[in-house]
Amino acid sequence: MYQAKAYSAASPKSPLASATIPRREPSESDVQIDILFCGICHSDLHQVRNEWSGFMPTVYPCVPGHEIVGRVTSVGSAVTRFKQGDLAAVGCLVDSDGTCSECRAGLEQFCPNATLTYNSPDKHLGGVTYGGYSESIVVDERFVLRVPSNLDLAGAAPLLCAGITTYSPMRHWGVTKGKKVGVVGIGGLGHMAVKIARALGAHVVAFTTSPNKKDDALRLGADEVVVSRNANEMQKHAGSFDFILDAVAADHDINAYINLLRRDGNITLVGAPEKPLAVAAFGLIFGRRSLSGSPIGGIAETQEMLDFCGEHDITADVEVIPIQKVNEAYERLLRSDVKYRFSIDMATLKS
Ligand code: NAP
Ligand code: ZN
Repeated sequence: MYQAKAYSAASPKSPLASATIPRREPSESDVQIDILFCGICHSDLHQVRNEWSGFMPTVYPCVPGHEIVGRVTSVGSAVTRFKQGDLAAVGCLVDSDGTCSECRAGLEQFCPNATLTYNSPDKHLGGVTYGGYSESIVVDERFVLRVPSNLDLAGAAPLLCAGITTYSPMRHWGVTKGKKVGVVGIGGLGHMAVKIARALGAHVVAFTTSPNKKDDALRLGADEVVVSRNANEMQKHAGSFDFILDAVAADHDINAYINLLRRDGNITLVGAPEKPLAVAAFGLIFGRRSLSGSPIGGIAETQEMLDFCGEHDITADVEVIPIQKVNEAYERLLRSDVKYRFSIDMATLKS
């Protein structure tokens, strides 16, 4: 075991602050990574503030961060795919049982024994796992991803959660050329969804509550932008969407979007607001529409997404911040004041 510098929260009400955390020495199948950039996901904020207490209560101290890119500093003797000096990435998962039907299907995100990158029981050291707001991490090779060499690293980090969480349901629900796709909430996830849906060939409509994001949404790849507080603009799209991805982090009226789906259309929730959303049954009944959810993605699909982003030159639009600004960044995230993902330059942890 060794000690690593990190930023952690001591309680739901305390700010993130400098701390030291234990990391295991790499075992034969482990990769040790010096973290270069870590994205700030809205899930980090939900978890740090224990907003998912009913479902995933937070264990303190909490070190968030699951959008990790870095450089390999050492590998165990059985590691074959990475060597010292390679670029490497880690997302939301660091382990799973490898034997259940979900793991055998390459869907580790559904493994009942999956270990999340932070706030999951740590089978090596006891306590819980600690995430990427830290100088280094040690992860089993099976959960370490390759970063295409053409991608900017600060902008590639958010692909590890925002990228895969939007790519996976779009692939599952058949987003391809000719499909009409809506993206609700142009934040970290939403702006990635716009870029990816565009690259998949869809006709993309961005829905935003922020009129000042209109020009950006077009630049990101949307064909049309709707300011969702404008009922007339919404009505023009009634009954027309094949698929809508809802990436909103707060309470909102989902029925307004269900009514925009065509027959058999699907709306998938990836946003995870603190409070339940109210759903009107008739919106789903008429039109046989469906409402579903989707968590992150499996490891093979995450690599597929990274390679897809490499081919299409897709990264997140990031504002790079020093770790010392992380609490300010959380407040700005709550005000939707980020274009469009904060990426922490982890070298600043050493200063
Ligand atoms: P984010 O950057 O804060 O983006 C959320 C966006 O939602 C905002 O930019 C804003 O977009 C919109 N929004 C915020 N408040 C709103 C309100 N009151 N009414 C309507 N729209 C509002 O967050 P994120 O990191 O993209 O994460 C989004 C959600 O996905 C979070 O709940 C997060 O926990 C969840 N998540 C889920 C998974 C998964 O596996 N399913 C993975 C990662 C994250 P506009 O300004 O355009 O309206
Ligand atoms: Zn995330």
